[in-house]
Amino acid sequence: MENKKINDATNFINKKILVIGSGGREHAVCLAIKNSKYNSEIFALPGNAGIRNIATIVDKISINDHQAIINFCHENKIDFVFVGPEQPLVDGLVDVLTKNNIRCFGPSKSASQLEASKIFMKKIADENNVPTAKYQTFDNENQALNFVKEIAFPCVIKADGLASGKGVIIANDFDSAKQNIHEILSGKFGIAGKKIVIEEFLQGYEASYFVICDGDNFIPLGFAHDHKKVGEGETGLNTGGMGTFAPSPFISKNLEEKIIKTIIEPTLNGMKKIGSPFKGILFAGLMIENDNPKLLEFNVRFGDPETQVILPRLKSDFVDLIESSINGNLSKYKIEFFEEKKVVCVVMCSKGYPENFIKNTHLKNILSLENALANNHKINDKNLENVKILHAGTTIQDNKVLAIGGRVLNIVASDESFKIARNKVYDLIDNIDWQEGFCRKDIAKKVSQD
Ligand code: AMP
Repeated sequence: MENKKINDATNFINKKILVIGSGGREHAVCLAIKNSKYNSEIFALPGNAGIRNIATIVDKISINDHQAIINFCHENKIDFVFVGPEQPLVDGLVDVLTKNNIRCFGPSKSASQLEASKIFMKKIADENNVPTAKYQTFDNENQALNFVKEIAFPCVIKADGLASGKGVIIANDFDSAKQNIHEILSGKFGIAGKKIVIEEFLQGYEASYFVICDGDNFIPLGFAHDHKKVGEGETGLNTGGMGTFAPSPFISKNLEEKIIKTIIEPTLNGMKKIGSPFKGILFAGLMIENDNPKLLEFNVRFGDPETQVILPRLKSDFVDLIESSINGNLSKYKIEFFEEKKVVCVVMCSKGYPENFIKNTHLKNILSLENALANNHKINDKNLENVKILHAGTTIQDNKVLAIGGRVLNIVASDESFKIARNKVYDLIDNIDWQEGFCRKDIAKKVSQD
């Protein structure tokens, strides 16, 4: 009885949470905060046209202005800051806020090196026997060329630093390798390409695995599968991600155990050993062949658009989960998922993406569609319950929603069947009046057959 009273009382605690970022990932995070048992006031820096319906937009401060963020948090008595994208983590925002007694979710600058430097990631993997592709690192063009003369093609050339997802090139022959090595080492990606990694091409299928960590313990959040290429059938240029689904029907409990034992635990122990314990979300990009997982890359934050399909499956309270990581209490946190729930997300982009795309186009009926979804009204005679429109590159001007980015909307649906969730997503997309936009039509197709 006493316990029940205490639990009920927490329902009325008003938390103030600042979310940094402006993508579909941050919209999904804001929704998860809104659905938490706490009655939280959310601030979004800088947010987008969808987030503004559930959060106060903070658009007068730059993400790079650490002092202004500190002042804002103090003035508004922010309980904690959630940092979405990698750049502010790599820039040390968590360290700066923590030093100023502002609680913050995410890894320190030094732990963020797992994403900021592919060479650092490889070194940690080597030191802790984590399976990855065989590789060498170079900062000299001739030495790199001598190396590629000896190896098999395709090979993979990677800029060491952050390059907005564009720094990985798969070279099918010597000429392509030569040209890309020259371009990267000559500054195509700025200082991110001062050094490169050249590695063997791995076969298999890809999966993204997420764990939340508190420096000592971690809790698995599950797998998602991404569709990275712009064209249907995985063709064309690489993108930030054109769609996702979760959970993974391909990965058994045994395989998950193997991923934890051979990749996650050794990495987290290795980070502790070098004095950079990892807090926040560790996102492992994996290549799996014959049930043998190898690490492709680490990211040090939630994925976008993976978060959009991971968070709707979380049954436990999201704010409690995040605070347990910040407070170092994850060992006491009991996580639960909606085990049967299947989630599909399709990303809608401005035509031209991922190259030059048209900007400031009008998403004519988004506000009325959102209104219909919020009120459970049928859309074109279809019942689209459990479908959400999450915004990414959008803004609002004179009550008009405009597309200002490459990836603009995420249409997300859940159901007990992938097929039904997927049909709902595409039924909604059929009703979106946006001539200047496009999406892939084959997201989650392979898991939606009868
Ligand atoms: P990364 O940013 O390192 O994950 O690389 C981006 C994408 O390039 C991955 O999602 C894979 O599709 C591909 N890739 C990276 N490294 C390799 C590799 N060693 N073998 C095959 N494909 C790779």
